[in-house]
Amino acid sequence: PIYLDNHSTTPMDPRVLESMLPYFTEKFGNAASRNHAFGWDAEEGVEAARKQIAKLIHADAKEIVFTSGATESNNLALKGVIEMYHEKGDHIITSSTEHRAVLDTAKALEAKRGVKVTYLPVDKFGMVNPEDVRNAITDKTILISVMFANNEIGTINPVKAIGKIAKEKGILLHCDATQGVGKVPIDVQDMGIDLMSFSAHKIYGPKGVGALYVRKKNPRVRIAAQMDGGGHERGMRSGTLPVPLIVGFGKACELCEQEMAADAARLSVMRDRLHATITKALEDVYLNGHPTERLPHNLNISFAYVEGESLLMGCKEIALSSGSACTSATLEPSYVLRALGVGAELAHSSIRFGLGRFTLDEEVDYAGKRIIETVTKLREMSPLYEM
Ligand code: PLP
Repeated sequence: PIYLDNHSTTPMDPRVLESMLPYFTEKFGNAASRNHAFGWDAEEGVEAARKQIAKLIHADAKEIVFTSGATESNNLALKGVIEMYHEKGDHIITSSTEHRAVLDTAKALEAKRGVKVTYLPVDKFGMVNPEDVRNAITDKTILISVMFANNEIGTINPVKAIGKIAKEKGILLHCDATQGVGKVPIDVQDMGIDLMSFSAHKIYGPKGVGALYVRKKNPRVRIAAQMDGGGHERGMRSGTLPVPLIVGFGKACELCEQEMAADAARLSVMRDRLHATITKALEDVYLNGHPTERLPHNLNISFAYVEGESLLMGCKEIALSSGSACTSATLEPSYVLRALGVGAELAHSSIRFGLGRFTLDEEVDYAGKRIIETVTKLREMSPLYEM
């Protein structure tokens, strides 16, 4: 089998696993145990990882709050800010193509706390217009939450421009950068990001650990904890830290820092070759997402007259995602593609290719060949397709 679903999750880098192993056995201590060497060893591992993670995004180690993953980070950011700053206002601005972990959190805040949410539209490439952000701001706005890069189509938002507007207006900016961190350079200082969610399992680290970056200076951001307990993570997220996972997360970030540029260069060439092979062999194929402002390892294509699900069934040996199956067991077409104005039929015929650090040239070539064969076969059987 060939794995081309790296937006969903990534295999762990063997170097990451290696770094974690001692923390399951001899260094098993609780990082909060201050009275003995077992605790000190664990704490040392956690603090070294915090530095590695902070360095990758140009933050300070003290600004990293560990969570169970980006879903929790998004919940903590939105709910924590609303609870902390509700006296200043009750309005959030976000976008219509955010991940469910942001959209559903916003919906829950609307339903349970009477928060008002503006869901900004995106252009045909899936990009948020910073001027739309500016125009949506009211004197009740306390948070802007816009994703760095989209998980289906790979479009990268103009976060720096949005950060500038947020700063100008004195409004906090949260960014779900789960798909961007470790893949393209992200600098929370330069981009004016106040809170940022990301996750280890998308960057060749372990599942079950993530982080929320919470700015400490200019301005000092405060969030209300969503879990009561021992007051870990400077009171923002209680619970014994999963030391081995955190150590692995740190190692994964260090490797990304060192290898991100080379990975991106290699994968974008591979991705472009796959795209070119497909468009050369097949007519009626459409690229979804932005032609240039996109993640280097992402390709999302609609194959007209072909059901994405049938295409996946036809090449089962390749792990891919379709624009229908992404969200859930329901066969609703992707709300992300619909938000770009892609019709229901083309949305149903879309496939997401997600390349990764361990993807080989021959795997991509094989995938291209099999996709072309299968699309051709399915179209021959389709009453809608005229040859
Ligand atoms: N946000 C985005 C953009 C994602 O792609 C994902 C993962 O699918 C998440 C949030 C959720 O991340 P996690 O699996 O770490 O909870």
